[in-house]
Order: sequence, then structure tokens, then C-alpha cells
Amino acid sequence: MIKQQDVNNFINGQIILSNQARMEIISPIDGSAISSLPMSQKSDLDKAVEAAQKAFVTWSEKTLKDRVQVFFRYRQLLENNLEELAELVRIENGKTMDEAKAEVFKSMELCEFAVSMPQIVTNEIQEVSKGVECRIERKPLGVIACITPFNFPNMVPHWTVPNAIVLGNTVILKPSELVPLSAMRMAELLKEAGLPDGVFNVVNGGKEIVEAICDHPDIKATSFVGSTRVAKIVYKRASSNLQRCVALGGAKNHLIVLPDANLEMTANNVVASMAGCAGQRCMAASVMVGVDNIQHIINKMIEEAKKVIPGENLGSVISKEAKERIERYITEAEAQGAKILIDGRNAFVKGFENGFYVGPTIIDFVTPDMAIAKEEIFGPVIAIIRAKDVDEALKIENNSNYGNAASVFTESGAMAKRVMEGASAGMIGVNIGVPVPREPFSFGGWNESKFGVGDITGKSSIEFWTQNKKTTTKWNPEDKRDWMS
Ligand code: NAD
Repeated sequence: MIKQQDVNNFINGQIILSNQARMEIISPIDGSAISSLPMSQKSDLDKAVEAAQKAFVTWSEKTLKDRVQVFFRYRQLLENNLEELAELVRIENGKTMDEAKAEVFKSMELCEFAVSMPQIVTNEIQEVSKGVECRIERKPLGVIACITPFNFPNMVPHWTVPNAIVLGNTVILKPSELVPLSAMRMAELLKEAGLPDGVFNVVNGGKEIVEAICDHPDIKATSFVGSTRVAKIVYKRASSNLQRCVALGGAKNHLIVLPDANLEMTANNVVASMAGCAGQRCMAASVMVGVDNIQHIINKMIEEAKKVIPGENLGSVISKEAKERIERYITEAEAQGAKILIDGRNAFVKGFENGFYVGPTIIDFVTPDMAIAKEEIFGPVIAIIRAKDVDEALKIENNSNYGNAASVFTESGAMAKRVMEGASAGMIGVNIGVPVPREPFSFGGWNESKFGVGDITGKSSIEFWTQNKKTTTKWNPEDKRDWMS
């Protein structure tokens, strides 16, 4: 892969060289080092927070209508630079160019929601008794932090950053150390769009920076997206330091497939959901619960999965460790008696022999007690569990510790309704493999897929990134007063 510039930090509108120890950035496409980033320390974060605090004074005083102007221009810059931004995602994350472009398109949509804030955030006012008015205004929190994962280097930062900034906050972004290139480009483009220095800062690094964010007394709120293991650490640590926190974790999404489901559409959707972005989506199908006799659908899925070719329409997984972990789960399920219908182990891509590829994998006759049925695999793998009816299927789904998404495939409205009501997940799909709610609807799971109140995007995020100021005014003269005045 073509070498990229070394990554540093972006603080107060400038790229700040860091003299901390550096880590290589490996492109999963071919396993080559494409750049390096600093493992920043608390002192680097302190500088970013200081800049963000200073910027907050003037940024928060601007009107909402003023603040969104930057994002009209920035959204256009995303569009103008689509090819370049998608290429960055592709080389650092390993997904296909089409998937990388879709990510940037979604970032544009997220900006479109952010610029619509003046139409939504109109505050409230009422004359509560004669001459007395109460008003509620949404005010920003101050300096906030966003910690993001590797799987959507461009999109996930856009879940939080545009909304938080237009609502008047100033931001520290800590991207995944595996994919910092997109975040640095985001900083440059925001500056080009006219965002004042210090409003958006990027501090690169790993665990140390995340811990320093959670402990920082001047950071008012932290959003986290990543694995459940780390989401729990971040949620507990940030909350115990009295920060507002929402932490999104991992997933194990169940698709419940009934025999009457549309054959072509269901097979297409299930395979696309489990293999898209190499299965590295928190909304990816991971378990398919086949109700009664769905053999015809499985046969069609096998046909579809054979069309998914690593290195062509299937990208790489993120790392050597990820490839080994995914293959280990497959091998263990096989040893426990599950039947591998399509085997993605030992995938080989000519010319990219050192890349980290796993082919699409369909495993049948998985039982609910197997690790492959319970744990997040995060690869292009689907485990099929057989159930006799919808009640049993729902019981299996309800037993998961996670609860990001669940979908049902059927032609029956009554059965669909049963799953819509009975599934224990925050995002439900009917005949949809990846049921991501689009703006203005908000994104967020249940159970161990999310910790904290409210969702991370859409209207729900307005509550998270602001605090209410309640003002009561009384201007009426004495003779106009009633008992409450
Ligand atoms: P991760 O939890 O390993 O890393 C996320 C962030 O936490 C990174 O910035 C990383 O530097 C930091 N981090 C890692 N280990 C840490 C530690 N011990 N202490 C403090 N900080 C630490 O997640 P990942 O592997 O980058 O991303 C994949 C995971 O993210 C999957 O579990 C996926 O389901 C989840 N995810 C969830 C959603 C959602 O909406 N629920 C969306 C995208 C990804």
C-alpha cells in the first residue's frame, strides 16, 4: 500500500508533532505499514482540553444558526473529496471501495441532520401564570470527548462530532489507533470549512488517552463506541468522575427467518448483512434462527455466499489477530458438532498474501450453548440455530447478553409483529438485514450493547449534548398579579 504521512495530533487548529512513542499503522489489505501514530499521553490531552476550553468561550456564544454554517460547507467538502476520503477508509480499514464510499455518504447525511438543528431546537416558552413566563433553553456542556472504534473510521466520528459542535460544545476526538487517518483528514476539512481553531481537536493514542479522558475534570461528557468490554470500563470510569457518558458496546444480532419469507430477498439480505464490511459491523447478522423448515432458504444463501469473493467484493478483516480469532471460533464450532456449509478459513487473495482475509462462512446446526452462538465474532460468519417455532426463536434471541439489532423475515404481519414486540434489542428490522434507523431517528442498542441514557445520534443526541437552562421571568405590575405570580 502507498505510504501515508505520519500521523500526529490536531490541537488548536494545528498539527502538533508529538514526541511520544509511535505505533505503526498496518493496512489490513496487504499487511504493510502505511504510517505511524503517536501513543499520546495525558500531557497531550491536557493541551487539547486547554485549547477546547478557550475555544468554547466564543463558540458557545454564537447562535445555533451561525454555528451550523460551518457544516453546510463541510458537508460539501465531504462530497468534493469523496474519492480521497473513501480511499483513506479503504486502506486503513480494509473494506471495499463501495463500502468506504457508503460510509462517507452516511457522514454527509449525519451533517445534514446537524445543519437542521435550528429547525428542531427551538426551545420552549409558556406564560405559566399571569405575567410570569417560564422558558427552557438548551445550552452546551463545554468540552466533550468522543472515543471511536476501528470499523467505521469516517462514519462513527460523524455520529457525534457534528451534533456536539453545532449544539455549542468543543470536542476532543480519540479515534481508534488502528485507523487514525480519516479522523486527521476530518480535522483538516473542518478547518477548511471555517471551524475556528480549538473547537475540534484530535488526540491519537490508545488506552492511556481513553483513561485520561475519563479522568479529566474539565471534560463534561464522553461518548464511546467500541466493544462491550471497553464500553463497561469507560462508562464506569467516566461516570464515577461525574462525566455524562453514553457508551455503545458490541453486538450479537439475531435474524429470525420463517419458512414463508421471500426466498431471494431473504437469502440476499442475510448474506449481505453477515458479510458486508467483512462482518465488522455492529449491525451485522451473526445468528440466524431458522424457524421450522427453512432448508430452501439456506440452500439459496449458500448460492449467494459463493458469489462473495475475498479481495473482490469482500474486504479484509482488521488485523492478523482478528483473522485468527474468527477462524478459531469456526474451528471450535466444528469440533463441537456444528456443520460448516461454507468455510471462509484460509482465504487466499492473489497478490495480497499478507492481507487479513476471511471468506464468508455459514455454519449450520449450531446450538445456543456454543461460543459461536453467544460471543461476538466480528467477521463474515453466520451461525444457524434451528427452532421449532417463533416463541422458541424469541427465547434464543432474548437470551443474548447483547441487544443491538434483531430482524425477522416473513410475509406474515402477525409473525412480524410478534418479533417486533418480543425481541430484546434496540433496533428491529422486518425484512431488513441491517436495520439502521436513519436520521432523524436515533441509533442505539439495549442490554450490553449500550450503557447510559438515550441514544447516540438523531434527536436523542440533542438531550445528551446539551443541558437545559430554565428561566422564570416576572414583569407584571402589582395590580396584575394572581395567587401564583
Ligand atoms: P475497542 O473496544 O477495542 O476499541 C474502541 C476504542 O477503545 C478505541 O479507541 C481504543 O483505543 C479504546 N480502547 C481499547 N482498549 C481499551 C482499554 N482497555 N481501555 C481503554 N480504552 C481502550 O473496539 P474496536 O475493536 O475498535 O471496535 C469493534 C467493536 O466496536 C465491536 O465490538 C463492535 O460491535 C463495536 N461497535 C459497536 C457499535 C455500536 O453502535 N454499538 C458501533 C461500532 C462498533
